[in-house]
Amino acid sequence: MSATFQHTAEYARRMDEQDPLRAFRDEFLFPQHDGRPAIYFTGNSLGLQPKAAAAALKQELDDWAAFGVEGHFQAKHPWYSYHEELTAGTARLVGALPEEVVVMNQLTSNLHFLLVSFYRPAGKRVKILCEQRPFPSDTYALASQIRFHGLDPKDALVEMTPRAGEHTLRTTDILDRIAELDDTLALVLFGGVNFYTGQAFDMRRITEEAHRVGALAGYDLAHAAGNLHLQLHAWEADFACWCSYKYLNSGPGGVAGAFVHQRHLKADLPRFAGWWGHDKATRFRMAPEFSPMPTAEGWQVSNAPVLPMAVHRVALEQFDRAGIERLRAKSEQLTAYLEATVRHVGAKHDVRLEVITPSDTAQRGCQLSILAHGMGRGLFDQLTARGVFVDWREPNVIRMAPVPLYNSFEDVFRCGEILSACVALNVGMNA
Ligand SMILES: *Cc1c(COP(=O)(O)O)cnc(C)c1O
Repeated sequence: MSATFQHTAEYARRMDEQDPLRAFRDEFLFPQHDGRPAIYFTGNSLGLQPKAAAAALKQELDDWAAFGVEGHFQAKHPWYSYHEELTAGTARLVGALPEEVVVMNQLTSNLHFLLVSFYRPAGKRVKILCEQRPFPSDTYALASQIRFHGLDPKDALVEMTPRAGEHTLRTTDILDRIAELDDTLALVLFGGVNFYTGQAFDMRRITEEAHRVGALAGYDLAHAAGNLHLQLHAWEADFACWCSYKYLNSGPGGVAGAFVHQRHLKADLPRFAGWWGHDKATRFRMAPEFSPMPTAEGWQVSNAPVLPMAVHRVALEQFDRAGIERLRAKSEQLTAYLEATVRHVGAKHDVRLEVITPSDTAQRGCQLSILAHGMGRGLFDQLTARGVFVDWREPNVIRMAPVPLYNSFEDVFRCGEILSACVALNVGMNA
């Protein structure tokens, strides 16, 4: 496909004209640079604000003003059941049954609550296998859960590392490691997409192998929800959680999501309970005995945070209109165009811009992670100064995520022009 890409403004505009999702760009607010929209490639960190967010928030503030406590039942979107309005769209987005998902809390909090139910070390089956360099919050969560059970993370937490000279993991190596850990393995906990390398993991096969050795498989989908075409139910994942402020455009600190596979819903699993997880038919009897909802809602602890949910509601509605399959189809092209553009710039200046994200589209989402040998941090600063939003992750990666909902082929082309100008400065300095 990349052989057909052209690095001209005309070509990029033509691609945008043919893009069935192009109108969505207009539904977002872009930071401005020099009087025009910045090139925003950090939707993997904080998605842009949907224009509809302000009115959605105002609706709740107005209903609060008008109804006070009665807003729980009289608001346009009654607060008592607000989270239920998010269920159907969430289920479609992650490939789940409605009863398997709930929107609640924050991501790391959800990870902890799910680990309480699904990490239950017993006998020699105590280990958790995770990907290389997981997001630090996940490492802290896993290690603290292991300690909570009186175990030592040095023994119980196993982190995969790539082969010497490679940046990402081979699926076969992951499967082999699971087989090798065998009956010492309690849980596989992977990101859907690794935040650093941008590698997407084969959740179906990982889950299958985990189950084969008698372990469970859970996923942190922070970088996968709204990015990949997920099928959590069909893949038989045991549980998953994600945040809504990255690809899901629901604002800083936005409310998070959780998935529990249907086969666990009726089981009497240990959990940390709260009143919002109690069967809603009898919740207000305020009885002392906890009787959980027989759905993922049974993991809720507190009542729904309506203000962040108001933003999440309109953001999910955009995904429903766009459709994750169409988004994914555009995303594969857009990211492939960016990859070709980065290579084109590298070749033009004879510098090494190494894309460490897999080239195989099945093993990545939107994001490309680039090692700019000898130019890293400086190149990042120069791009930033010219209105290109990308980010820098220690020790030495520049991450760029063109998001199919609001980024364009022209964004990618312009990014390439600016990248080329910045590289030229560095080459000049080194000469
Ligand atoms: C962004 C991210 C987090 C952040 O956790 P919060 O609880 O939302 O602050 C956690 N894990 C992963 C993999 C992430 O990418």
